[in-house]
Amino acid sequence: MALLEVSGLVKEFDGKPVLNGVDLSLEEGQVKVIMGPSGCGKSTLLRCINRLVEPTSGRILFRGEDVTRPDTDVRALRQRIGFVFQHFALYRHLSALDNIKLGLRKLRRMSDAEATDRACHELRRMDMEEHRDKYPAQLSGGQKQRVAIARALAMDPAVLFFDEPTSALDPRMAREVVALINQLFMDNVTMLCVTHDVFLARYISDRILFLDHGQVRAEGDVEQLLDAHDDPQIRAFFGPGT
Ligand code: ADP
Ligand code: MG
Repeated sequence: MALLEVSGLVKEFDGKPVLNGVDLSLEEGQVKVIMGPSGCGKSTLLRCINRLVEPTSGRILFRGEDVTRPDTDVRALRQRIGFVFQHFALYRHLSALDNIKLGLRKLRRMSDAEATDRACHELRRMDMEEHRDKYPAQLSGGQKQRVAIARALAMDPAVLFFDEPTSALDPRMAREVVALINQLFMDNVTMLCVTHDVFLARYISDRILFLDHGQVRAEGDVEQLLDAHDDPQIRAFFGPGT
């Protein structure tokens, strides 16, 4: 059974369709990247799946359970999906360590010692343990994103969603973050990642979906889509030499 099975997903804002019948499936351990022009509905797709946005119609199965039903436990669903945003969304008044501990204490009801252990484990995984007591303002963009990823991983989600995790970073920091996400890919962490970053798409994914006007226009591996696709619009999107 797929971890995630989206079929015929439609989302309209003010009667205007933004998602136009999206089909997508994600197996346990699989990594898919979603690419496509700005405004084509990528963020809306991720947000529909964890019910930050209410789908207009269509079906979303999470481990076989329809999570578009009105009686869905949305809080429980969101705890199964770790979300990493472009602008990190860290709490400014909390240290790196406390940013990670917050959800463990409040949602997982861990003791202080347990939460510290768990948070330090994830900080180590992101090569950030020496910065644990720093506040977001004292960290670089790449370091902030590594804390945000550690925070998402600490909750032990079934899948990690990324919405343009490198687009607020300069190229050097972006590569640093790509290297760490690549490590998660090697560790078989299930991920769904929206990005414009061809470098990221190449190094972390099994398959790429090309979304356009609210529909999946093409799906393939990196070579098929980036290098050899016969649709001129898709070739133009990725451009020469990427
Ligand atoms: P992408 O992430 O691919 O750039 P989005 O999913 O953010 O695209 O947005 C797709 C379209 O939906 C855009 O035209 C955007 O303006 C519109 N949109 C997104 N969220 C809302 C909202 N809450 N209300 C109205 N329109 C929205
Ligand atoms: Mg977006």
